Amino acid sequence: LAGKKYISLAITEAFAGSDVSGVQTVAVRDGDEWVVSGTKKWITNGTFSDYFTTLCKTDAGLVVLLIERTDAVSTKAVKTSYSATAGTAFVMFDKARVPVANTLGQVGKGLSVILSNFNHERWMVTATSLGAQRVVVDECLKWTNQRIAFGKPLHAQAVIRAKLAAMISRVEACQAWVENITLQMNNMSYQEQSDKLAGPIALLKQFVSKAGRETAEDATQIFGGRGITASGMGKIIENYHRTSPFDAILAGAEDVLGDLGVRQAIRKMPKNARL
Ligand SMILES: Cc1cc2nc3c(=O)[nH]c(=O)nc-3n(C[C@H](O)[C@H](O)[C@H](O)COP(=O)(O)OP(=O)(O)OC[C@H]3O[C@@H](n4cnc5c(N)ncnc54)[C@H](O)[C@@H]3O)c2cc1C
Repeated sequence: LAGKKYISLAITEAFAGSDVSGVQTVAVRDGDEWVVSGTKKWITNGTFSDYFTTLCKTDAGLVVLLIERTDAVSTKAVKTSYSATAGTAFVMFDKARVPVANTLGQVGKGLSVILSNFNHERWMVTATSLGAQRVVVDECLKWTNQRIAFGKPLHAQAVIRAKLAAMISRVEACQAWVENITLQMNNMSYQEQSDKLAGPIALLKQFVSKAGRETAEDATQIFGGRGITASGMGKIIENYHRTSPFDAILAGAEDVLGDLGVRQAIRKMPKNARL
């Protein structure tokens, strides 16, 4: 792989978000090609992608197709509150012709193909969130040491120390759980991970993104005006406070993931389990 091409994962549509199976983008077979029509929303990397890994519906159920950018594929930037460099896009397929050889997995099993990616995508979101949370805690420790208010450093205030205690505890709890899951992922086959870890990873992501948003709130209070200023000493806090909700929505919304985790646990529970 030369690493010179960009690719997007195009699942979400205006009327199909958490309910992935409700996609309306349609793929119709025409000889050795699929003809794809429909739209996708909020597609990361979309504005500059060369290929789109796209969930479509067919007469025989869902299918995932690797669609190359051609004149039949157009993209429009979507402005979000994080970074324009993410290339978030609205993607339009207007009778895009796709070789049948670009079918990923089996026709009718598109959902399994998508689900097989989710564990790793969700793990990635937790790992990046964790790294950011640690940076935020580090910034807060330094700031409370340096900022003098009412004649003493901020960390001389018990209420500030209580916030730091909560932030440190959250980040260490997240770290321990991420490492626990990572170890299991490294010691299970892909199939075993899909079977056993989808629920725990969903719960982990819910926990980590919630922890991140609580830490963002605490850090903003600790930094005061600087915490809501995009330049200067609080810029990292401002950025994290603005962007941490993305971890709570992308790759599965928090509440949906919490529910998934519990449903998976119940599914594995012996039906006759009683007190
Ligand atoms: C910046 C950005 C980048 C993105 N990148 C991509 C991408 O690259 N590829 C892609 O395919 N998608 C992408 N998405 C889409 C993202 O995955 C969806 O926004 C997300 O899955 C939620 O779907 P939705 O926004 O349609 O919310 P909806 O499905 O409409 O849900 C709205 C809210 O309702 C609640 N809810 C819904 N269903 C349930 C339920 N069963 N139980 C409990 N609560 C529920 C949840 O709180 C949820 O947040 C991106 C989104 C954004 C904003």
